[in-house]
Formats: sequence, structure tokens, C-alpha cells
Amino acid sequence: MAEPRENLQMEKIVSLCKRRGFVFQSSEIYGGINGFWDYGPLGAELKRNVKELWWQAMTRQRDDVAGLEATILMSPKIWEASGHVATFSDPMIDCKTCKGRFRADQTGEISCPQKPSQCVQQCHGEKTEARAFNLMFQTYVGPTATAEDLAYLRPETAQAIFAQFKNVMETARQKVPFGIAQVGKAFRNEVTPRNFIFRSREFEQMELEFFIKPDEVIEAIHGAVATPEIPGPDSPALEPQPNWGWQAWHQYWVEERVRFYQGIGLDRSTLGFHRQTPQELAHYARACTDILFKFPFSKKDEQGNVIGDELEGVAARSDFDLSQHQRFSGKPMGVFDDELRAAWAKLPKEKSDDLWRRYYENRKNYLLKSGVEAEPASRQATDDANGLAKGQYIPHVIEPSAGVDRLILALLANAYSETTETDDKGKSETRVTMRFHPRVAPIKVGVLPLLKNKPDIVKKALEIRDALRPWMNVFYDEAGSIGRRYARQDEAGTPFCVTIDFDTLGENPERLDTVTLRYRDDGRQERLKISELRDWLLARIR
Ligand code: ATP
Repeated sequence: MAEPRENLQMEKIVSLCKRRGFVFQSSEIYGGINGFWDYGPLGAELKRNVKELWWQAMTRQRDDVAGLEATILMSPKIWEASGHVATFSDPMIDCKTCKGRFRADQTGEISCPQKPSQCVQQCHGEKTEARAFNLMFQTYVGPTATAEDLAYLRPETAQAIFAQFKNVMETARQKVPFGIAQVGKAFRNEVTPRNFIFRSREFEQMELEFFIKPDEVIEAIHGAVATPEIPGPDSPALEPQPNWGWQAWHQYWVEERVRFYQGIGLDRSTLGFHRQTPQELAHYARACTDILFKFPFSKKDEQGNVIGDELEGVAARSDFDLSQHQRFSGKPMGVFDDELRAAWAKLPKEKSDDLWRRYYENRKNYLLKSGVEAEPASRQATDDANGLAKGQYIPHVIEPSAGVDRLILALLANAYSETTETDDKGKSETRVTMRFHPRVAPIKVGVLPLLKNKPDIVKKALEIRDALRPWMNVFYDEAGSIGRRYARQDEAGTPFCVTIDFDTLGENPERLDTVTLRYRDDGRQERLKISELRDWLLARIR
């Protein structure tokens, strides 16, 4: 039976990744370890570029976001407060026939590791009861390995941001609305790691927690909460406004993130959206929009359109996280807002009563859903609502949370393209070009002396390499025919190559100190002055 096309496409990508050093199986020489992947020389560069671009866009280019780099092991209390100890689990089932282990919500999608062709069918009929399986990896801190020393490898980077919220806000001298960004490793003992680096057990996340005022506070200060606007795809990004409530901020961050993806070569047509239904949403979340990428393995809808799989989730998480840490740590997580205090004093009684009541209801609901008894919940909610008049509240949060590895896979799948050429003797050859956006491409420019046995050409080429190196990742290659060398760079996804030839040295005086510049995507060539080369490249790779 022929392989489905999407599997073939994934196989080609996986094989290119190994052959060219993008991604290797972890511990390969020992037979590998399921759900773990290593990034080779090209993959490591690609990944660095992606993280660097995210960091640039989300922190350095904004006044309202500060960065954080927290530890992977933290106090286990953090994971009790966040709810991960109690509820971060997947339903696991075993197949009685093949002893394969699956996620109960995904049996239709996966094949058995042992008998791929038959087992999916058999599992449908012969599964064990689903059991909750906590996805957090455990370890012990300190030498005794007792229950008190139990710690978890973080399953997400976000919680450290909440735990350090006050420290960051004070040291960065920020005021709500503002965000805290973090990039780092996360670990989940996934029941069924699959689809290459899409779902692995060790991966990286790029997360922003953007803290905002509750809608009641916006209303107290500005009279009303702005209705969210959705800018057209070609119109400039929206400027955040002081009267934005959670809906406008949520919409804004979805749009910002889509623009980020476009800026690194993922066209809007390659993306999709899934707005979580009330049944899918966590009890504390107001909304969550998943940004999807149409991967080769993504399923199709009834009309045959590819739906896509989650690249990033943008969630409006209310004030749940800070409230939980306040309750569990006993440390106040609220902020003081002078503007609110002043505005509250001037509100007509009817308005302040209405806002008080709504804030009180929200706080009480949160407390009840978090297991607090009715009476203390009502007392606490009253205190919280009374805080508004003093300018106090617990910030809400919008969380754009993206996976580095899923983005790498999206970039690889998006870049992969094949051309088959047949020579005069009828021999055909298929060549791969990785059409990465120059911003993410692992190597920015290949520097190629036309001939390696001409010392003057080689010397000039090395000079160019050394002049460019401090500015970008350069690959110097003198081995093999020029056509072969171009092909190697096409496969690595290098957007530009420069060739140093006899004209560079002045054989044709008009071309002295110029090089041939070749474009990866269409093979076009032009002549460029060496003196202009660096700025020409920088303008295209940044
Ligand atoms: P999924 O439903 O696919 O398991 P999730 O909704 O649990 O994902 P989040 O907890 O929202 O994911 O994590 C945020 C992001 O982290 C995801 O959008 C994804 O890009 C990335 N991510 C989550 N789990 C994994 C994993 N096992 N391997 C690689 N990336 C992951």
C-alpha cells in the first residue's frame, strides 16, 4: 500500500534533518530515547535565531515588557498553587493486544509502535480503562531522596513569571499593563510523544505573561471598556490604548503573534485559528485562541481544507494565577494604582456599587471554584472588592505561549521544497532547497572562492569571510564544483552565496573588488561591490 503523501513529506523532512544536521535522535548510538531530540549544527543556529527574534520582538523592542530567566527546578509549592500537581494529567490507556500505551483522547490519531498496520483498529475495541497520568517529571533535591525532597522539572515556564511577578515589576519599574517574557526548557512526560519534534518530552517554550487591569478597574478609570478592533492584515498594528479591557488585549496579542510569524516567513495562509469552546476552556480562563500551523500531518475538515495543529496558545487567564500564588504563599500579589483610587472617589454611588458587585462576584466565583468554602470565600471577596476604593486589585493576565520546537518544525515544513532536474543524458536528480526566511536561516551567506588552488582568490575570499563574520553566520566552502557548493547551501537554506573569481581580482578592471551574489530561491545572480556587501546583507537578514 502506498504511503499517504503527508507521511512521505514528514519522512523527507526527518531524513533531511538528519542528513544535514538540523535534528538528530537523542542518544542515537544507544538506540535513542523516545520523545527526546538533539539539534545539530544547522538546527542549533535555526533555533537560536528563532529565540533571538522572539526575544527582540517581545522584550527589547517594547517598553512594556521585561525579561526573566528562572530555574527549571523550583519549590514544589509552585506546582501545587498552579494546579499542576492535582490536575496536569492525560488519560492513559493500554492496548491489550499489543501492550502499546496511548492517550485515550487520541487513539484514532496514532498508530501502535509495535504493529503499525493493524493495531489502531484493535485498540479501538480492546482498550483498558483510562487512568490519569501526571505529566510532570519528578526528581529529588538533596541527598536523602525522601518525600520532602521531591521536586518537579517545570512543565511550563510561565509559573516562574507569576512567582517573580512582584520582584520584576519593582526592579523593572513597570506599572500594569506590562508583561514579563521568558524563554526556556519545559518537560512533560507525554504519554505518546509523536510527530518528530512536534510533541516531545523535553522542549522549549517562549512565554509572555502580560498583566492587565481588570475590566472593572478600566471602567472605574475610563468610564467604559473599549470594544476590540481587528486590524486588516495589511494595516499597521494597533497601538495599545489605556481603556482596553481583556478582550481588546487578547485580540491584540493574537494579532501581534500572527504578525511575528509572518515576519519570519509563515504566511497567513499557512496558519489557522481555533477558538477554544467553553467545554475546552480551563474553568478560570475567559478565552483561548490557538494559533495553528498546517503541518504535513495535520488533519483535514470535511471540505478537504487542512485544519492545522497548535503552534501557540493565546489565553486570557483572568487573575487566576496571581490569586493562586497569593493564597498558597500568603504573600500579596495585588498592585496599588493611584489612578484607580482617585477615580473611585469621584464615581457616582450607583456606578461604584455596580463595579464593586461585579468585582466581588468574580472574586467569589474564583475562590469557590478553587475549593474555598462559601463563607470564607464571601469574606475574602468582600475584602478584595473593598480594596478597589483604596486603588488595589490583582492583575489579570493574557498569555501568549509558544513552543520553540513546534515553530522549528513549522519553519522546516514551510521551507522544504524539491525540484527535479533531468540532464542531457536523461538522468534525473531531485534537489532540495530550504526556503527559510533570511531572518531565521541558519547560515546567512556562503562565501565561495571559485577555485581553491588560486591563492589570490582564496585570500580574497577569506578576507570577505572574516569581515562578515562578526555580523552574521558565514559559511566558507571551497570544496567541490561551484554548482555542488551552491546545491549544498540551498539544502542548508542559505539565502545568499557570494563567489570570488578572477574578476574580483581585476581581470576585468570594471569588476575589480566585486563579487557574484547568488540568490537561493531563483538562482539569480548579480554583481555587488565588496564594500557594499555587508550592509546589503544586513538589510536583508534582519
Ligand atoms: P497540546 O494540547 O498540543 O498538548 P498544550 O495546549 O498542552 O498543547 P500549552 O500547555 O498551552 O500546550 O503549551 C504552550 C505551547 O508549548 C504549545 O502551544 C506548544 O507549542 C508547546 N508545547 C506544549 N507541549 C509540547 C510538547 N510536548 N512538545 C513540544 N512543544 C510543546
